[in-house]
Amino acid sequence: MHYDITVIGSGIAGLYTCISAESEYNVLLISKSDFLNSNTYLAQGGIAGVLAEDDSFESHFDDTLKAGKSENDKRAVEVMVKEGPQDILRLKDIGVEFDTGSDGRLLRTLEGGHSIRRIVHCKDSTGKEVAQKLLGRVVDRQNISLMERTFVYDIEKRDDEFIVYLIDHKGHKQSVTSSNVVLATGGIGKIYKNTTNSSVATGDGICLARKLGASIKKMSYIQFHPTALDVEVEERPLISEAVRGEGAYLLNERGQRFMHKYSPMAELAPRDDVCKGILAEARIQGSNHFYLDISHKDSDYVRKRFPYIYEKCMEWNIDMTRERIPVYPCQHYLMGGIDVDINSSTGIQGLYAVGECSNTGVHGKNRLASNSLLEGMVFSRRAVSTMKLQRHAYEKIDLAVKNDGVNHIDKGIKSEIMDIMQSSYFIEADIEKSLRGVKRLGEITSELREGSYRTDIEYYETLNMAQVASMILGEIIENADFK
Ligand SMILES: Cc1cc2nc3c(=O)[nH]c(=O)nc-3n(C[C@H](O)[C@H](O)[C@H](O)COP(=O)(O)OP(=O)(O)OC[C@H]3O[C@@H](n4cnc5c(N)ncnc54)[C@H](O)[C@@H]3O)c2cc1C
Repeated sequence: MHYDITVIGSGIAGLYTCISAESEYNVLLISKSDFLNSNTYLAQGGIAGVLAEDDSFESHFDDTLKAGKSENDKRAVEVMVKEGPQDILRLKDIGVEFDTGSDGRLLRTLEGGHSIRRIVHCKDSTGKEVAQKLLGRVVDRQNISLMERTFVYDIEKRDDEFIVYLIDHKGHKQSVTSSNVVLATGGIGKIYKNTTNSSVATGDGICLARKLGASIKKMSYIQFHPTALDVEVEERPLISEAVRGEGAYLLNERGQRFMHKYSPMAELAPRDDVCKGILAEARIQGSNHFYLDISHKDSDYVRKRFPYIYEKCMEWNIDMTRERIPVYPCQHYLMGGIDVDINSSTGIQGLYAVGECSNTGVHGKNRLASNSLLEGMVFSRRAVSTMKLQRHAYEKIDLAVKNDGVNHIDKGIKSEIMDIMQSSYFIEADIEKSLRGVKRLGEITSELREGSYRTDIEYYETLNMAQVASMILGEIIENADFK
């Protein structure tokens, strides 16, 4: 089967690409898991955008650059800040039920690094509401074919078309051809032991793009979120920054506020500054115990404003309306990725990257809170607007079935990769451990490539995780000052 556009990934970037494509395009949407299993679905705080008269593009632009330590691509930031509001309003038209006040106006919350309330939200489950409504639109469109629980393990380019290789949920391999491919495969959080990310975040798209010759940049620009719930699970529930935005205090083990020592913005400093503050305080107090406290606010308000977080905490017998919430930083977001231009093109004709897997340059060194759903929409719409619709007869290409090995991959390898990343680069990099880590990751990659393994989804995910981890630590070592 041949498609005009194949979109890989059903988070906000992939879904928004689909609905931005004119109905004359023949589109295929593929997701390796259920369509709603994504980082997008987990997004809590909301979407940043200039939507009120007391706000300005200049202010959103300045806050984005301040958080990004001015390493941002200014043109990309300008585009996102100015075009983003129309995409937020489009979501509203599609039926996304943002919270509104009694006057019908959109309610706006505050998060770290923002100098004004500008984040629209759907209680504390913004991503779930947005993903569900966008998916509803996509499913209704006659021109979009859907493949759920289908893993893309390879892409080849032949002349002016791509061959996309797939493994379906029964383990069967097949291929499709496509004039354009949009990688919307999300983040890399699963290479860490502790992450807020969903199980899909194994960096597959970055490895697919690199194999095709795309440039991969800023892989060491990883955001750690300061306040994930400190409980013993790999995918740690996030306690949204909006909780601090609505007045929660960050406390050390003795119950004292401390962030003012590390930033004039105190609890509402950008995420990297709060993470560094926590690490510095941990060294002083000799323990990793930290808390968020919003118990001084009206309990009815807290329950209604943060119903998802309230429920998550209650699952661990923590009543946030009455007691402190144990928190600690963990991996959250990748700022870098597949390098793209202002229209999301990778430079390889017909290959685009959008959303968290891409490096648009908008985030600089550290993403400003709630700018990533916005980025996902703005730059996926732009990708589609520049695509070329080519119409000619394509020859049917048969999938060259590779000889499969017999051995199943040892699940312990994924854990080993997570341990390497957690110990080599968690907020601060440990160069000695990074050097050892890169060496070991190289051995793992060679062993997987050369060994006689059954090439199933587990195999490809593990291989991708090892390569992504190696790219990150490699960049850390390259930039290290050995003097
Ligand atoms: C807990 C949490 C809270 C957050 N809160 C906010 C917030 O309030 N505001 C904000 O702006 N940002 C927030 N973020 C960040 C934001 O949610 C993500 O950066 C954004 O949703 C990424 O969207 P995406 O479409 O790029 O990727 P995702 O939403 O992660 O989607 C990736 C898709 O790619 C598919 N995929 C991956 N590999 C393959 C493959 N090999 N084959 C087929 N399919 C594949 C997956 O199945 C999935 O459908 C939050 C993130 C987390 C984890």
